Amino acid sequence: MSQAQAPEGRAWIGLGANLGDRGAALARAVQALAAMPATRVAQVSGLYASAPIDAGGPDYLNAVVELATSLAPLDLLDALQAIEQAAGRERPYRNAPRTLDLDLLLYADQQIACERLVVPHPRMGERAFVLLPLAEIAPERVTAVQLEAVGDQRIERIEGPEWVGTVSGF
Ligand code: ATP
Ligand code: MG
Ligand code: MG
Repeated sequence: MSQAQAPEGRAWIGLGANLGDRGAALARAVQALAAMPATRVAQVSGLYASAPIDAGGPDYLNAVVELATSLAPLDLLDALQAIEQAAGRERPYRNAPRTLDLDLLLYADQQIACERLVVPHPRMGERAFVLLPLAEIAPERVTAVQLEAVGDQRIERIEGPEWVGTVSGF
C-alpha cells in the first residue's frame, strides 16, 4: 500500500561549524540536506563568519538553507541529527565547539513545543548568525527590530551563496 505523502512545505535550517574544515563541513551538509528523502534545497544564504556566543573556541562559519520538504518536523529533526552524527558531532557540554550544528529554525508557520523540538527555534531572535543569513533568503521572516537588537554582534559576510560550490580554504 502506498503511503500518502504530506504536502510539501518550507523549512529553514541554521548551519554552523567551528571545528575542523568548517567550510567543507557546511558544503557537505548542504549536499546531505539535498539527499534527504522527500526534500530539496530551495535556497542557500551567503556564508558568514561569527564570534562564538556564550562560549570560547574558534570563530564559526554559518549559513541558512531553505528546504522544500514533505518530512514531518520530528522526521526532519531525526534526519538533521543523523547528518550531524555523520559529521562527527560530539556534545561534551553545552555550547561546546562543534564540527556541525543543524538547527530547525522555522517549519512553515508552525509552532511546535515538545520534548525534542521547539519551533520557531527559541534562541534564533538573539543571534545575528541566524538572523542575517535568514533575512537574505526569507526577508519576510525577520524584522528590522530583530536585526537592530543583534547589531552589536561580531559577524561578517564572507561569501555569496556560491560558497556551496567553492568552500575549500575557509
Ligand atoms: P542551541 O539550541 O542553543 O542552538 P545547540 O544547537 O548547541 O544549542 P544541540 O546540542 O544541537 O544544541 O541540541 C540539543 C537538543 O535541542 C537536541 O537534542 C534537540 O532535541 C533539541 N532541539 C529543540 N528544538 C530544536 C530545534 N528547533 N532544532 C534543533 N534541535 C532542537
Ligand atoms: Mg544551535
Ligand atoms: Mg543544535
